[in-house]
Amino acid sequence: MRVLITGGAGFLGSHLADRFIKEGYEVVAMDNLVTGDLRNIAHLEPLPQFRFIQHDVSEHIEIDGILDVVLHFASPASPIDYLELPIQTLKVGSLGTHNTLGLALAKGARYLLASTSEVYGDPMVHPQSEDYWGNVNPIGPRGVYDEAKRFAEAMTLAYMQQHDVETRIVRIFNTYGPRMRLNDGRVVPNFITQAIRGEPLTVYGDGSQTRSFTFVSDLVEGIYRLLNSDEELPVNIGNPSEFTILEFAHLVNEMTENAGGIIFRDLPKDDPKQRRPDISKAKRLLGWEPTISLDEGLAMTLPYFRERLSAD
Ligand code: UDP
Repeated sequence: MRVLITGGAGFLGSHLADRFIKEGYEVVAMDNLVTGDLRNIAHLEPLPQFRFIQHDVSEHIEIDGILDVVLHFASPASPIDYLELPIQTLKVGSLGTHNTLGLALAKGARYLLASTSEVYGDPMVHPQSEDYWGNVNPIGPRGVYDEAKRFAEAMTLAYMQQHDVETRIVRIFNTYGPRMRLNDGRVVPNFITQAIRGEPLTVYGDGSQTRSFTFVSDLVEGIYRLLNSDEELPVNIGNPSEFTILEFAHLVNEMTENAGGIIFRDLPKDDPKQRRPDISKAKRLLGWEPTISLDEGLAMTLPYFRERLSAD
């Protein structure tokens, strides 16, 4: 079995590469390295069953040989990345999805799209289940990501209906763990980096907005099960335990014994006020639910950040 993982040098892509190698697949990782990092896959490079190709999937893709599975995970994934790379974000979610679906069709491969809880926007329904249509501002700062992913879902279903490609769609909620980019601007790397340096944590707004954090190994397990299931419609994968950002800041300071405290900064525009997955569908169809608590996941994440910060 041979799998193509786009965004293969990224945070999630590289963890998926590890899993598929472990499952006995040959893995082709493709990445243009705008937000990916070769250090995430350096340990796989010597393996004969692993190959890296530097390529932008928004351009036509050529792969020699068979492919059984295509996983489309390439995209900037942090709000500050969308601000810096708005057109690339739109292109990889739209043209990149079209190109990877075309490739899956040509190779007869099963296809899995990395979608996102951002399709729900700033949700008016809580928790979010897959049948909620969302509340997205198309012209706000997050629109380039949210709309590209919504388009990507529509395109994926169209390939399923029109061309009989076997497609899967995972809606990924906030995920964290080793190999996140230190400076990607999201709350987990920001807080951990600040805490390790003994600095105050920057809470945006009053910190009453909520998120639900999934440890990366739980997410990978959910994705693996979804790929091997028959479900063609989107499935939420995320941890339903919900925290305010202020609670999360206190937890990080406590776990790192950071005396730097907390400072408050302006809340970015269109920042969702609450987010928590309804995972009844994943439980029912995949027998999946998360197993790693936020404390446990943070304890597995902190050593990575400590090491990277001392190396940089
Ligand atoms: N956030 C924060 N301080 C930071 C970075 C983020 O308070 O240094 C907040 C942000 O405003 C949002 C939440 O943390 O409410 C999660 O932000 P993130 O960028 O990680 O992802 P999002 O879920 O908003 O896409």
